[in-house]
Amino acid sequence: MEKHDVIIVGGGPAGLTAGLYAARSRMDILLLEKLTPGGQVLTTAMVENYPGFEEAISGSDLVAKMEKQARGFGLQVEIKSVEKIAQEGSLKKMIADGEEYLSKAVIVATGVEPKLLGIPGEKELRGKGVSYCATCDGPFFRDKEVVVIGGGDSAVEEAIYLTRFAKRVRLIHRRDQLRAAKIVQERAFSNEKVEVVWDTVATRINGEQFVQSVDVKNVKTGREDNVETSGIFLYVGVKPNSDLFDFKIDADQRGFLRTDENMRTSVEGIYAVGDVRSKQLRQIVTATGEGATAAFAVQKYLEDLTP
Ligand code: NAP
Repeated sequence: MEKHDVIIVGGGPAGLTAGLYAARSRMDILLLEKLTPGGQVLTTAMVENYPGFEEAISGSDLVAKMEKQARGFGLQVEIKSVEKIAQEGSLKKMIADGEEYLSKAVIVATGVEPKLLGIPGEKELRGKGVSYCATCDGPFFRDKEVVVIGGGDSAVEEAIYLTRFAKRVRLIHRRDQLRAAKIVQERAFSNEKVEVVWDTVATRINGEQFVQSVDVKNVKTGREDNVETSGIFLYVGVKPNSDLFDFKIDADQRGFLRTDENMRTSVEGIYAVGDVRSKQLRQIVTATGEGATAAFAVQKYLEDLTP
């Protein structure tokens, strides 16, 4: 069984920055990541609000730089999917792909995953025109009509990104105002390929082998319509990856982990950083700051454990 002082679970910007700081402090540290390091940012076409990159940088390039930087200072990364975090005496035990890992402290940086809309056709046609990742699937829709559902930063940014390929992007939003940052809204409104459909919800996705259309309903007038489309991109929010614990840990109503300002959760030795944390602002810049804060707090915690 592998044993380390600190294990970071999750390799997005928060986890990688915790790893960078912990590695530079010469802590005995391991980062476990289930796929490729990067997290949600990997699915972000362009990042233009991370300081220091005055030209927008692609999400995948940005996290590749973060990973390279952290590894350069000695961060060890293993591709393992953590299924459970448990208490083992005074230590924490992680079970990942059948193997066990022990540590004195854990930094949980497990992030979020897209919420499903939960309408008929969504599951059946996933990967057949239903997508949660414009950067992954956008190029398949060259010169086609696509629909994006949602009104937050992800929906509006990715709708704009999709105009690189699609001939028209319909952004269907349930209210008469978008939630996304104003600058992103302005860009969507001035993009002639983006058409915003207000006060409207999707009720069913139709298609035999591939998506052919989506049924929609205006929530103000009650009018129902059928919109022909080849692709439907869903960005209706995110849910936290916070169901790993074998013990009780304080979380908000939606399952995001509560911490103090030093990223300590309600359980001694467990810290939470990045999107999985209960907070107001989910950004790369807040995630990296929290990663650094947690690494510093863990260092102090380990020093206090050692008489
Ligand atoms: P979000 O901000 O929670 O937005 C979700 C959108 O989906 C909202 O517009 C919401 O409508 C709509 N929605 C929710 N449930 C729905 C339903 N059942 N039917 C129809 N529409 C529904 O989620 P997000 O855009 O994925 O962003 C997640 C977090 O990451 C946010 O904190 C966001 O700011 C951040 N983020 C930041 C950037 C950036 O800074 N560049 C980029 C991407 C994401 P209502 O508006 O009516 O609630």
